[in-house]
Amino acid sequence: MTTLPCELLVAGGGVAGVCAALAAARSGGETLLVESHPWLGGTGTTGMLRHICGLYGTGDTVPTETLNGGLTDEIVKGLARRAPLRTVRKMGQVYVLPYEDSDLRTVLTDLCGAERKLRVLTSSTVTEVVAGDGRIDAVCVATPDGPLRTTTDMAIDCTGNANLAALAGATCNLSPPAERQLAGFTIRVNGLRVGDDLLSIKVPYFCAKGVEQGLLPPLLRFTTFFSGDDADEGFCKLSLDGEEGHERDQRAHDWSRILLSYLESVLPAFRGAGIGGTAQAVLEREGRRVLGEYTLTGDDVLTARKFPDAVVKNAWPVEIWDRSKGTRYQYVPEGDFYEIPLGCLRVQGVSNLLAAGRCISATPAALASTRVMGTCMALGEQAGLAAVWCLRK
Ligand SMILES: Cc1cc2nc3c(=O)[nH]c(=O)nc-3n(C[C@H](O)[C@H](O)[C@H](O)COP(=O)(O)OP(=O)(O)OC[C@H]3O[C@@H](n4cnc5c(N)ncnc54)[C@H](O)[C@@H]3O)c2cc1C
Repeated sequence: MTTLPCELLVAGGGVAGVCAALAAARSGGETLLVESHPWLGGTGTTGMLRHICGLYGTGDTVPTETLNGGLTDEIVKGLARRAPLRTVRKMGQVYVLPYEDSDLRTVLTDLCGAERKLRVLTSSTVTEVVAGDGRIDAVCVATPDGPLRTTTDMAIDCTGNANLAALAGATCNLSPPAERQLAGFTIRVNGLRVGDDLLSIKVPYFCAKGVEQGLLPPLLRFTTFFSGDDADEGFCKLSLDGEEGHERDQRAHDWSRILLSYLESVLPAFRGAGIGGTAQAVLEREGRRVLGEYTLTGDDVLTARKFPDAVVKNAWPVEIWDRSKGTRYQYVPEGDFYEIPLGCLRVQGVSNLLAAGRCISATPAALASTRVMGTCMALGEQAGLAAVWCLRK
């Protein structure tokens, strides 16, 4: 088996993992980033998500800077160079940045390509951890060229599902399937008839009616709609439950077809429209999280709590995708933000392991706010900086 030593291993190349790896490499750490997909960006570049949330504070003035600065600002600038017309937009009480999957993928790939101390392995999966005395000593990676073993001094779990922490034997938390928030699946609809500006209200209304009449599967009552860049383009976000896997993905495709033919029958704008593309899979909003030295709570978020060891700020609301009630928002006090302490990134029981992104130590309610991309990027950056600080200590 090939051996590849590094100072820092980052598992998972979603937005958190890329930012962790970039921050660490720029601080001088010899860094290896391992990502299962052939591309970088994780959920952010496979889910047809359209808006980066969690970048900005709230209030009446349109923000010109991100809450956390650093790499989030760099990524925003990189996206602006590729699509200058996509600018910060207010949605209800919060600000979001519209973006395109392919632009984010390119920006992340270019940033990584510029770092001399960063090596990226895509299409590669961390499969095994060699740990002893509460430390990770080495990690086995399945690569397209065969298995690889890497010895490492520090590691960061950015797998979105605490996969590295679980392999290292750390305690993790995962809500039972029946209590987990709904998963999501986005489809792009092309060929919409131009002229109906109220589809974001009409689609959920008619979907609820269709469910009441027994014409649609019950969870389709939570379908949301938002318009695309082109006048004849729109996106429908479907909600699904059940275990991750092929059966659920197949159900998502079946429901998409049922949904479109129903909308065609009730809304003239959908007559002749078709499915122009779909997300790559049904995506989990709530995955496994590490048990950290501190676990962030919904109360911390809603009371805008500050911490002495704070590393990241966030003003995104608690956004619960509830199985019986659909989406519910609970807001951080306007103009304020809460802080995420370093303790949420430090994994209990494994001294050289940090977590960042969607799998930090948080209750399901807190995760419903911390999981958005802007926050995951900032968490990744801070984990990368903290890891190199630990290496040099
Ligand atoms: C349906 C849905 C809609 C959403 N909508 C929005 C939105 O509109 N705006 C927004 O800002 N956020 C949204 N989010 C949240 C956000 O997209 C994610 O929470 C965020 O992108 C998570 O980033 P991450 O880097 O922590 O994890 P992920 O994006 O999950 O990345 C983790 C990466 O780790 C890799 N990986 C896993 N295990 C291994 C392993 N063993 N070895 C190597 N690699 C591994 C995976 O392939 C993946 O690429 C949404 C989430 C969902 C599910």
